[in-house]
Amino acid sequence: METAEHPDSSETVQTASDLPGRVVNVLDACLAEAERPVPLHKPVFEGNEWDYVKECIDTEWVSSVGSYVDRLERDLAEYTGAKRAVVAVNGTAALQVCLRLVGVERNDEVLIPALTFVATANAVSYLDAIPHFVDSEERTLGLDPAKLGAYLDDIAEVRDGTCVNTQTGRPIRAVVPMHAYGHPVDLDPLQNICDTYHLALVEDAAESLGSLYKGEHTGTRGQCAALSFNGNKTITTGGGGAILTDDEALADEAKHLTTVAKKDHEWEYVHDRVGYNYRMPNLNAALGCAQLEQLPTFLERKRTLARRYQKAFADVEGVSFFQEPGFARSNYWLNVLLLDEADLGLRDAILEETNDAGFGTRPTWQLLSSLPMYEDCPQMDLSTAGSLERRLINIPSTPSLVDSNHDQ
Ligand SMILES: *Cc1c(COP(=O)(O)O)cnc(C)c1O
Repeated sequence: METAEHPDSSETVQTASDLPGRVVNVLDACLAEAERPVPLHKPVFEGNEWDYVKECIDTEWVSSVGSYVDRLERDLAEYTGAKRAVVAVNGTAALQVCLRLVGVERNDEVLIPALTFVATANAVSYLDAIPHFVDSEERTLGLDPAKLGAYLDDIAEVRDGTCVNTQTGRPIRAVVPMHAYGHPVDLDPLQNICDTYHLALVEDAAESLGSLYKGEHTGTRGQCAALSFNGNKTITTGGGGAILTDDEALADEAKHLTTVAKKDHEWEYVHDRVGYNYRMPNLNAALGCAQLEQLPTFLERKRTLARRYQKAFADVEGVSFFQEPGFARSNYWLNVLLLDEADLGLRDAILEETNDAGFGTRPTWQLLSSLPMYEDCPQMDLSTAGSLERRLINIPSTPSLVDSNHDQ
């Protein structure tokens, strides 16, 4: 391996081996005012967080019943345009409940991208169902509808209204697109496939709060969707998530299931099935209400940062800065660099040199189909997901890297 150029060696002749140093230089220039080290993403608390959380403690409403829980559900529904939002302890639990609500059962297959955070597959597994891995497309970083359609034409057929995998004999119940790093999947063609094959559409919108697909908020197209408010997401409740749906009956069922299936009664404990203790506590919801008030500013600042990166990386040969697909307005949750195939060998050097220089950069997730618990699951050809896995690097994306009265 070549010796690393020092970051300020801007005088040196450009060769392929300069790439790690050049990436460090660009990050240095884009994030000149930022305190080092610069994490990949950290929460920003610049609003009413203290006031709202203190009010929970002062009024002793800290647990899952409380005014902030109801308010966060109303505010999320209003913001996203979904008819209903039901908050939950985290995004994984929200996704598990979504899948259960659309009828996913033991031994069903659920189509999910191989390139996603492990929670997407885990939520399927919690229901004793089986993840079936789908390839991604480079244009969106998410599930490839054209490739999925052609694949299903080969391996699936609809029998008595149920999609069946003719190779395994198992029902394929649902498809879960994941809007990777906030960039929306192309939902129109995917919806057509769901209609043709009688598949439920459940969106893993954990990363895409604030992202629009053709003007509509992500997570409002499927029968239901899961959001996450983990500490590294665009807004946070500490830990938390939500289910979005336009279906009132589904929303009521979601609330019932996540509240230990307890029937409304003044004093009696009546539970009518095995429910989950998945309801978000009021303390977390209070934080969420304060965060959601700031979401529009966070999004503006994140887009400004993305523009800054895009301009700065335009001149760097060997990497490209990933931009939202044409039909989308993305939240740019985590900014993405894609390495050219020719420079794959430099990925680890780039990760090492940027982290050594104090910039939190990360590779993407390993394909879930390569993890020990999922390696025997059904999968289609995953060549694009595999290429993205080797080429993708996330770079610092916290909204406070841009001041609120930002630059251009
Ligand atoms: C963050 C995330 C989740 C769920 O996260 P929680 O940590 O359980 O809130 C699910 N899917 C994806 C793709 C995620 O990034």
